[in-house]
Amino acid sequence: MSLSFNPDALSLPIGHFIGGKLVAGGEGIEMKRPSDGRSYGQCPVASPEIVERAVKSAKAALKSSNWGGVRPRERTKALQAWADLIEAEAETLAKIEALSSTRPVGQLVAGDIAVTAEQIRFFAEFADKEGSDLVPTDDQNLGMIISEPYGVVGAITPWNFPVSMAGWKIGPALAAGNAVVLKPSEMTPFSTVYMAELAVRAGIPAGLLNVVLGDGQTTGNALTGHPDIAKISFTGSTRAGSAIMENVARTGVKPMTLELGGKSPQVVFADADLEKTACAISGSVVFNAGQACVAGTRLIVEKSAAPALIDMLIARMKTVRSGPTWNETTHYSPIISQRQLNRIGSIVDAALQAGGECLIGGQSMEGAGYFYEPTLIANVDQSSPAVVEEIFGPVLTIQTFETEEEALALADHPTYGLASGLFTRDLSRTIRFARQIQAGTVWINRYSRSRDHILPTGGYKQSGIGKDLGRDAYLANRKTKSVLISL
Ligand code: NAD
Repeated sequence: MSLSFNPDALSLPIGHFIGGKLVAGGEGIEMKRPSDGRSYGQCPVASPEIVERAVKSAKAALKSSNWGGVRPRERTKALQAWADLIEAEAETLAKIEALSSTRPVGQLVAGDIAVTAEQIRFFAEFADKEGSDLVPTDDQNLGMIISEPYGVVGAITPWNFPVSMAGWKIGPALAAGNAVVLKPSEMTPFSTVYMAELAVRAGIPAGLLNVVLGDGQTTGNALTGHPDIAKISFTGSTRAGSAIMENVARTGVKPMTLELGGKSPQVVFADADLEKTACAISGSVVFNAGQACVAGTRLIVEKSAAPALIDMLIARMKTVRSGPTWNETTHYSPIISQRQLNRIGSIVDAALQAGGECLIGGQSMEGAGYFYEPTLIANVDQSSPAVVEEIFGPVLTIQTFETEEEALALADHPTYGLASGLFTRDLSRTIRFARQIQAGTVWINRYSRSRDHILPTGGYKQSGIGKDLGRDAYLANRKTKSVLISL
């Protein structure tokens, strides 16, 4: 059966989700579909009073369900049931997300949603396996490190992968025994609301997972500054991460996981398998039209291999098939908004004015919606705006090197350190590079995550603090208490 659908005939769960119910309220923000630029409704903005209601609901649900204190396997089972229901409802969830976002419906069902269900099951399994510790002391004492949930976790997610990002935040927080109040992006909020509805239908006690819609200024600030939010888990831009730290610091301190922006390098040596390398590099720039935090948007290639690799990249980038996100056959995504499309255009123009040479692309695509051509820019140095700025679009810069030291120096970005890629057949070089590169993730002879959710993800430098995924994400949702008993 086809997954393609008519966007005008889809009904959306519009509202906040508090205490297990859809709640109306708040002035709205106009929403436009990236695929055709048409208005389709309004995103309500939760006032501080609505945020207060959501936090109260989370606290009450923690108490009445004893979620943090039940046999941990009960949490595992409830989260597994939620993952099962997400899979069973994948088609509806995918349509809700595809309507407002840049994610094509076919990729959502086969990719984002299937992987999110797996990741929720992965986190669910930690609940009864990670525990407290007895620690070595002398025989007159007994020392213990007791692990406990925080209470209510405040989560905030960006627009680029709404279902995936919600799963990364909610999965470990609930598995670890917390309640959650989550604010999705005001541009793509409704798939997260639907996920929360599914959680209640799957048997997760109502009120443990609440969703408040709105912008950063009103709703985000009310959430991060709320005294009963014990921990913050944020994914978004470095600018917003810094604003959140400032807002929290006004009233005190609280632990935060911040997953922020990136400008990741892909370093290619002449001994690499160039066909495979071209496939990985173009895939990472074209996927979601470059709107991914880890997109490898700076190609740093050994001079002798540059002409062949560039030809292969151009050939691949010419084959993209754009289309509306509601068509099952669409592979190439739109840009999220007119504003973002303009921003991409202005950074590309500035890079060309500074001496860059456009080898392919460099324009918005004709027709409805916000589409931008896959773009390659050569003749850039470290000060080019296209090398410095996180463009968040399908734009790849090309720089060349002759020595390994030069390659490492070019790979090092002054601001960001999220991910990095290396393509070579030289084993010693892979280890040297992995040790020296300043990035939270190093992919070697590939440029993508695998489905092994045990590898954590997170940034060096201004790309973030702490990790999502892996054991780290579960442990980041627990705090520890040291107990010493004199015998
Ligand atoms: P954004 O920072 O504009 O918004 C992200 C979220 O934060 C939204 O929900 C927004 O409403 C909210 N927000 C904004 N200002 C806030 C404030 N002052 N207080 C509280 N909440 C606030 O980012 P975006 O445009 O939605 O997403 C793109 C950015 O996200 C890029 O920089 C990208 O690299 C980053 N990102 C990082 C990762 C990662 O894992 N490191 C993953 C995806 C996206």
